Amino acid sequence: MIDLRSDTVTKPSEKMRKAMYDAEVGDDVYEEDPTVNKLEERAAEMLGKEKALFVTSGTQGNQIAALVQCKPSDEVILESNAHIFLYEGAAISAFAGVQTRVIQGERGVMKPEDVEAAIREDDIHFPETGLICLENTHNKAGGAVIPLENMKEIYHIAQKHHVPVHLDGARLFNASVATGIPVKKYAEYVDTVQFCLSKGLGAPVGSIIAGSAEFIARARKWRKRLGGGLRQSGVLAAPGLLALQENVERLTEDHENAKVLADGFSTINGLTLESVVETNIIIVNIAGTHMTTDQFVSELKENGVLAGAFGADTIRFVTNNGVTKEDIDNVLKIIQNIINA
Ligand SMILES: *Cc1c(COP(=O)(O)O)cnc(C)c1O
Repeated sequence: MIDLRSDTVTKPSEKMRKAMYDAEVGDDVYEEDPTVNKLEERAAEMLGKEKALFVTSGTQGNQIAALVQCKPSDEVILESNAHIFLYEGAAISAFAGVQTRVIQGERGVMKPEDVEAAIREDDIHFPETGLICLENTHNKAGGAVIPLENMKEIYHIAQKHHVPVHLDGARLFNASVATGIPVKKYAEYVDTVQFCLSKGLGAPVGSIIAGSAEFIARARKWRKRLGGGLRQSGVLAAPGLLALQENVERLTEDHENAKVLADGFSTINGLTLESVVETNIIIVNIAGTHMTTDQFVSELKENGVLAGAFGADTIRFVTNNGVTKEDIDNVLKIIQNIINA
């Protein structure tokens, strides 16, 4: 099977499994796991933040950011197709007790003036704006990179109004590799940041959240409350460390493969790309094939290719380290055959 459903499907390499076996461990709730501590220090350094925390998932990291920075009844400003809004089961409402205020962006990019207009004034009727969330790269917008300049403008507005900014950077390293801008630069224009070790970076488990030392102290307590206080979790942090050491530059291969796939799609009758491909996500519209997305996905599966329906008439393909250049060529042939048939 050629699995292009997500970059979460990658399996840990032999080297990662070996690192798990060899990991020095301790009780991380006591902050005594040397491997977890090393991962958190490394991540904080890469992001240019005071402290970082290893959390179970991206969703948990995003929730903790809201729980620490908001109080129940606050309003959180988000782009209308943000992962936190669409795909986290309304967790920020369920746990942090906040309501969401969505802003329609363009390819995931919110206009700074729209963000400013959405920040609440002091009025007895209104909720208070507790947090602004950005997402880079933007999943639903097809792995779009949010320009650094846009983040900077929004951050300055947020600071002026004393509202913290959180970055859902599940794929922040993809943005960094695509633009050549260090993750540290992106993190400079947010107060807190979450990134996933378990996506393109290829680790089996976990995410990082980072911010000030005070934020992380409070985040640690929320992580414990949520049941995320793990014990000898160095076995999980060890592959995460390797992911940061060895798998960052490798993301360019995923981006190159995505480009080849997208270029191929653009030559196949009946397929249209929903947007330009900047990183490792390709969203293609199949309306011109007169097949339903379910039909298309199941035909693909019968031919050994996995992809996901991603809305009316669209299919998402995500390149990842389990997919080679040859696989990409094969996928294009298979799709051409399906459409010809
Ligand atoms: C995957 C993803 C998350 C959530 O990460 P999990 O580890 O699956 O909980 C959050 N935001 C974005 C943009 C994602 O793509």
